[in-house]
Amino acid sequence: MSKIIIIGAGGVGRVVTHKCAQLRTVFSEIILASRTLTKCDDIAISVRAKYSGIKISTVQVDADEEYQLISLFEAKRPFLVINVALPYQDLTIMEACLKTGVNYLDTANYEPLNEAKYGYEWQWAFEDRFKKAGLMAILGCGFDPGVTNIFTAYAAKHHFDELHYLDIVDCNGGDHGKAFATNFNPEINIREVMQKGKFYEKGSWKDTAPHEISRMINYPHIGPRKSYLINHEELESLVKYFPTLLRARFWMTFSDEYLTHLRVIQNIGMSGIEPINFQGNQIIPLQFLKSVLPDPGSLAEEYEGETSIGCRISGIKDGCHRTYYIYNNCDHRTAYLETGAQGVSYTTGVPAALGAKMMITGKWKGTGVFNVEVFNPDPFLEDLSKNGLIWYEIMDQNLEMD
Ligand code: NDP
Repeated sequence: MSKIIIIGAGGVGRVVTHKCAQLRTVFSEIILASRTLTKCDDIAISVRAKYSGIKISTVQVDADEEYQLISLFEAKRPFLVINVALPYQDLTIMEACLKTGVNYLDTANYEPLNEAKYGYEWQWAFEDRFKKAGLMAILGCGFDPGVTNIFTAYAAKHHFDELHYLDIVDCNGGDHGKAFATNFNPEINIREVMQKGKFYEKGSWKDTAPHEISRMINYPHIGPRKSYLINHEELESLVKYFPTLLRARFWMTFSDEYLTHLRVIQNIGMSGIEPINFQGNQIIPLQFLKSVLPDPGSLAEEYEGETSIGCRISGIKDGCHRTYYIYNNCDHRTAYLETGAQGVSYTTGVPAALGAKMMITGKWKGTGVFNVEVFNPDPFLEDLSKNGLIWYEIMDQNLEMD
């Protein structure tokens, strides 16, 4: 039984809080902290209404300020912090964890606020310090990154002697009824989608122009969807930990309508992250855009349809070529009825809560900084199915991924 602090009261924070409240034998006390206290209170009210007797409190914190985090962690003395604020806060939260003896888990790797660039280099650099302090930091424990890394580890453990080709395929087949909205934090989402594509092939990384490569991919229960090769953070750690991979790519579906909106946003300068002067004030265009776009959390009520995310892998088993597809489909409406959040937040928040459970129950052990594919995937995947994200396997069928 452990006390935890969850930082970030957005869509993902809502799901993590609900899921931790369901696992009361693991999480004895929940403290939900975020920049806007009313958002924490809102979630806490919904959790208390559903799970009577739950020990939950809320607190305001600015996670960009290390001193605020340190005094919060010192006052509450949690076993673990689950960071579901924004990637910009990863390093300050890790620093504060180190200085106060607290374990750490997040769902998205660090990116600097004023440069649209991400990677694990900054967080992997904490390895020796976490080790020395006897603490554990788990990076990227959402769905992608997160479950996709664990799916790959499961494939390597049970179905392959060598992984050769990995394609992570991510489809949101849902409809929220809005002309344009992003499914998670608009600023992070638009930065991710507008960047150059990137994939790994035969020992080196290859860049593509944004959305240069696309193909139709069939998704279970959803059908064919145009999918674009994009850069995605888990490729970096997967290539490191599965060195037999000859190629690793990430595909995401976007509708023509969505891409047209994005192109316009870019062409008119609204995706800029450099400050500009507006009527005597310095503003960042992308942050201004975020403030006029729908809050991803507000999409949940009307959202219909499913997400489908999985790994399509080919390689060698017992000297023979083999193909393997492992995936989950998540229904937006079901996610909403359980937690008040849509499927994208749900598929991120459930794995974060379960990763925390693995750490607390000692099923994942160690000191230092870890990506999730290094752990035993079995207990996590067993729990994933029991906690709302059922996964399926298809062996030796056409992967459509030449
Ligand atoms: P939201 O924007 O809905 O929520 C983020 C929350 O963090 C907000 O409540 C925000 O507060 C809070 N926050 C932001 N800055 C600070 C700060 N300085 N101090 C304290 N709190 C702060 O985002 P999501 O819930 O959609 O996403 C959360 C995280 O999950 C992101 O890092 C995202 O990249 C990651 N993610 C990971 C996925 C995966 O599969 N691995 C998929 C989807 C998302 P306020 O409301 O006051 O601004």
